[in-house]
Amino acid sequence: MLTITAALSLALAVAAAPSAVEKSTLSPDAFSSALSVDGIMSHLQAFAGFAAAGVNRAHGTSGYNASADYVAKVAEQAGLKVSRQSVLEELGQVTIGQLTVNGVVYESPTVVLDAYTNATEVGGSAGELVSLPGSGCEQEDFAGTDGKVVLVMLGECDDNAKVFNSMQAKNLAIILYGDVAPAANPYVEVPGRFVVPVVLHTGISTAQELLGQIENGTVDALVNVQIESVMVPGDNVVAQTSWGSQEKVIMFGAHLDSVQAGPGINDNGSGSATLLEMVKQLANFNHAEYAIRFGWWAAEERGLHGSKQYVQQLSESERDQIAAYINLDMTGSPNYKLGVQDNSNSAGQNPPWISVPAGSVAIERILQEAFRSDGQNSVPTPVSSASDHASFMAMGIPSGYLESGAGARKTALEAELFGGVAGERYDSCYHQLCDNMNNVSPDALIHNARAAGRAMAILANDISAIEEEQRSG
Ligand SMILES: [Zn+2]
Repeated sequence: MLTITAALSLALAVAAAPSAVEKSTLSPDAFSSALSVDGIMSHLQAFAGFAAAGVNRAHGTSGYNASADYVAKVAEQAGLKVSRQSVLEELGQVTIGQLTVNGVVYESPTVVLDAYTNATEVGGSAGELVSLPGSGCEQEDFAGTDGKVVLVMLGECDDNAKVFNSMQAKNLAIILYGDVAPAANPYVEVPGRFVVPVVLHTGISTAQELLGQIENGTVDALVNVQIESVMVPGDNVVAQTSWGSQEKVIMFGAHLDSVQAGPGINDNGSGSATLLEMVKQLANFNHAEYAIRFGWWAAEERGLHGSKQYVQQLSESERDQIAAYINLDMTGSPNYKLGVQDNSNSAGQNPPWISVPAGSVAIERILQEAFRSDGQNSVPTPVSSASDHASFMAMGIPSGYLESGAGARKTALEAELFGGVAGERYDSCYHQLCDNMNNVSPDALIHNARAAGRAMAILANDISAIEEEQRSG
C-alpha cells in the first residue's frame, strides 16, 4: 500500500514530467550562451580541494583518483553513460630516503624527496655538506661542489634551473629549502629516467640547523635513497550522451592529471572543468544528429598514456565513428591568447613530421568562426604533439586543439588582440606549485568554453564540412 507521501510524490512526479519534454534540440547559440564561468570555477574549486588532500593531482595520487570519481559522478548525474578504463603507469616508490649528518638521520616528513630525483648506491653515498655563496641560479655558484651535498635556498629563479646547475656541477645531492616545509609525493619518477642528482626538499628550521653545522666546520653527510619501481593505476573517464546517432560521435577531451609539482588548476583543471560545464548544460537538451562523447585522460603528463591507450584499444570501426576530436589543454592561462591549432598551416610553422588528418582544417575553421561569433579574435598555434589530440591525430581522426598558452611568452600582436602583457609568460606558474585557483583567467575560460560549446553544437548536427574535406583530401 502506498503511503500518503509516496502517493503525493508520485503525483508530483507526473506533474513535473512535462518539463522533461521541454528539453530541446542542441543549437549553437542556446548552448554556448548557457555555459557559465561560475560553473567552470565550481569544478576547479573541487579539483583544488582534491589536490590539497592528496598533495597534487598527478597520476597515482588520491588527488587524481578523487578527480576521476568527481568527473564520473557529474557526468552520470547529467544523464550520460559513463565508462572507465584503468591506465597503469610505472612509478617509483621510495623505500629509503635518508640524509644523515653527524649521526642525525633526517627523513620524511622533515626532509622529502623531489618527484624528479635519482637514487644512490645501496647503503648510500657520502659527501661533504656545503652551502652556496649565491642563489644557485648561476652555474658559477656551484664551483668546486663536485660530489658534494649542496644546500640551496629557493627563489630568484626557477627550482629547475638550480637542479640543472647542480647536475652540471656533478653534485651528489641538492637540498632545496624554503619557508614552507614541503609535502612528500606518494610516488617519484623511476630512477635513471632523468639525469639528475638526488633532489631533496626541507623547511627553513631544518635548513638553519644544517647551516649552523656548516658554520662550525666541515660536515660529512651520507645520502641514502632507494627507490623501487611499481605499477600504479589511474582511470580514464569516458562519457557519452544517450541521444544522437551512436554510429557517429563528436568527441571532446582534456587531460585530468597534473604534474607532481602542483595542483594543476590551469594545466589542466581548466580544460577538464570546461568539459564538465558542457556536460552539465547538455542535460537541458535531448536531441542532436550525432552523439557527443567526452574523455578525461589519465597520465597525459607522463607521455599522453591515457589517450594513447584509449585510441589503441578501439577497433578500426570504433575509430571511424569519431567524426571529430577536439582537445582542451590549458584554457585559462592568466596572460592568455586564444589559440586554435593551425591545421591549415596558415602560419607555415607546423613541424613536417606531424601529419594532420583530412577533416581537421574544417574543425579549425569552425573553432575560429566560433570565437568570432563570441566577438573574440583567435590566433593559429602550430600543430603539436604536446597534448592528447596527438593520440587521435596519429590514428587519422580529424582533430582540433584549443589552448591559451603555457610557459612561452606573449607576443606584441597577441597583447593587442587579447590584452595582457607582451613579453611575459602566458602562464608563469606552468607546471609549478602556484598553478592554483589564482592562476586562471575567467575571461580565457569562458571564451574557450563558448568556442568549444558552439563548435560542439554545430558539429553534433552537421559534419558535412569534415566529410567533404575527407572525400577531397
Ligand atoms: Zn597539460
